[in-house]
Amino acid sequence: MSDTLAAPPAHAVNSPLIARVAVPSPLRRSFDYLLPTELMAEYPDLQPGVRLRVPFGSRELTAVLLELDSRSDVEINKLKAVTRILDSTPLIPAHLLKLWLWAARYYQHPVGDALHTLMPAGLRGTAMAKTKRRASDSKSLVSDSSQPAEAARQLNTEQQIACEQINKSHGRYQGFLLDGVTGSGKTEIYLQAIAHTRAQGKQALVLVPEISLTPQTLARFRERFKEPIAVMHSGLTPRQRLNAWLAAASGEAGIIIGTRSAVFTPMASPGLIVIDEEHDGSFKQQDGFRYSARDLAVMRASTENIPIVLGSATPSLESLHNAATGRYQRLRLLQRAGEAMLPEFRLVDTQAGDLEQGFSRALLNSMQEHIKSGKQVLVFINRRGFAPVLQCRDCGWTAECKYCDARLTLHKSPPHLCCHHCERRQPVTQSCPSCGGKAMQAIGLGTERSEAFLQNYFPDTRVIRVDRDATRRKDDLDRLLNEVQSGEPCILVGTQMLAKGHHFPNVTLVAVLDADSGLFSADFRGQEFMAQLLMQVAGRAGRAETRGEVLIQTQHATHLSLQTLIHHGYHALAEQLLQERRQTDMPPITYMASLRAEAIKPEAPLAFLMQARNLIQQYCRDHQLEGRILVNGPLPAPMEKRANRFRQQLHLRAWQRQDLQQLLSEVCTQLELLPSQRQVRWSVDVDPQDMI
Ligand code: ADP
Ligand code: ZN
Ligand code: ZN
Repeated sequence: MSDTLAAPPAHAVNSPLIARVAVPSPLRRSFDYLLPTELMAEYPDLQPGVRLRVPFGSRELTAVLLELDSRSDVEINKLKAVTRILDSTPLIPAHLLKLWLWAARYYQHPVGDALHTLMPAGLRGTAMAKTKRRASDSKSLVSDSSQPAEAARQLNTEQQIACEQINKSHGRYQGFLLDGVTGSGKTEIYLQAIAHTRAQGKQALVLVPEISLTPQTLARFRERFKEPIAVMHSGLTPRQRLNAWLAAASGEAGIIIGTRSAVFTPMASPGLIVIDEEHDGSFKQQDGFRYSARDLAVMRASTENIPIVLGSATPSLESLHNAATGRYQRLRLLQRAGEAMLPEFRLVDTQAGDLEQGFSRALLNSMQEHIKSGKQVLVFINRRGFAPVLQCRDCGWTAECKYCDARLTLHKSPPHLCCHHCERRQPVTQSCPSCGGKAMQAIGLGTERSEAFLQNYFPDTRVIRVDRDATRRKDDLDRLLNEVQSGEPCILVGTQMLAKGHHFPNVTLVAVLDADSGLFSADFRGQEFMAQLLMQVAGRAGRAETRGEVLIQTQHATHLSLQTLIHHGYHALAEQLLQERRQTDMPPITYMASLRAEAIKPEAPLAFLMQARNLIQQYCRDHQLEGRILVNGPLPAPMEKRANRFRQQLHLRAWQRQDLQQLLSEVCTQLELLPSQRQVRWSVDVDPQDMI
């Protein structure tokens, strides 16, 4: 068999057919192979998007056909031959293939490596694309016909206008920013717009930020739609994922709900895309293929010619800017749906001291009142563990991570010290390694410490802690949330796990223990993130008929951003922040890309990025781009040492996306050839979410 498949000598064929393919490899290029005539005869209608087996080094790999060509830059007799064709029809539809190629280029990621994001694990080998259902697959393909479908709600006027606009754009591209306060009925609009899409026989793709959010959202979809819904997230087994993928590709599933990577789910007849909580950072992949599912979804909607709805109570400055410049149509919902009212905000100045374990008297009194009247209280602390600092009272020594520029967090159950940046753990130091003293003290507050304090202060009230440590096992979160849903008076203490999406009808007081870290962040997006988080947490209050209250503790009660947020709302602050970005030429006014390098040797990343900077400046001179591209750095990362590596960054900004794109494609290819690149780990992040 093997000799018939060997590459024919170049003179033997007039116009040899070349298959240009993507192979799973870290190289930023495609590869050419010969297509033997036998295979061509067997598959005369070969289309891009089918999988092929090709020899690669000493192995054989599954590749994806990108295009057919009659010419190659490589000499024909040097080309190896395709050994097998795995699919008779494209597994990846043409429009998705285009999106993926575009994404690999835009995010400067090796095209073959990006394959892993696109294709379910089950299809990366030689397996045929067939569904094999088992009972456990009900997780990835759900449909609930045990009860009749829940009826759609009568929309209020604002909702009705929004819904009509979306439905009107059926069959053509239009971006919508559905900008509505928490509880204003955005989800109801998604449901009705999807119902409209389904009535036209088209499919809808819904992207949600977190896995923990999926069950609740999913439940609402299941009650409304009595048809198969494909669910895509990282918690599925490869087979469940594959089945959901195939059900979407075949059209069997009319609705697909998933997290970030679900943006690459094929659809037989796409009709609508919805992104819930579009501002959420989890839509941006932070390592490897650093794509933004939100931005790609917009791209996808425009190539597939369908509408897309980006929903949020706290839209990103990017999306607000896009709405202001007319790229998106903005749909506003200013009222809460049904009877619920927006909560009332109050700042508590903690400058004066008078804190008990981080809780002000005003806050404790307020908590007391809400609990007494049978309500629930949510306390938000953005730090897990017992205390962020363990210090020697005698000499001031603090426990620090050997591998990061960071302190170790003290945990009590079980007792240990842990670095939240590299996850390194060590036993708790009983005596000071510096002076030998025994007076070690915990400074600052984490969720564990607040839980202990509150349980002691309110002995008759149930205190429920929700953070990563308390929800390690599979069903922990569900169990804790169910307890809250029961409505009994309780105090919920938790991290941002509590901020997102959950519906707690009986929570009437939300307390933010410390709003200050976001105010002085090293990240230019710090204040935007802080404002979004505060509003999201606040959105948990008073979702039923009782008006909620939000108490925010701060040492900077007069800070302009906090004042604006509290008195004039998120959008006023967003406008203020956009103005600052305009003055400083920061995104979304400019487009940004960061080059990052890290190494165990502190000098290596700096040396590499200095060379990168020189290449970039040379490119700018050669292409008359000076003044159109701004270069900052190399600079140490805000946390320079992390997980035992020293990290440097170089930031690029441009007013035109294209300028940046062309520069990056050229420079990345050159960087791969530099000898110094072997001394570092480096990466490019296009449209980075954070600077940390
Ligand atoms: P959001 O997604 O904006 O947070 P939801 O769609 O979850 O808002 O709506 C909040 C609550 O209001 C839900 O309990 C929902 O069932 C209810 N709701 C939404 N729209 C209406 C409506 N038109 N009439 C009555 N209740 C509604
Ligand atoms: Zn000491
Ligand atoms: Zn560490």
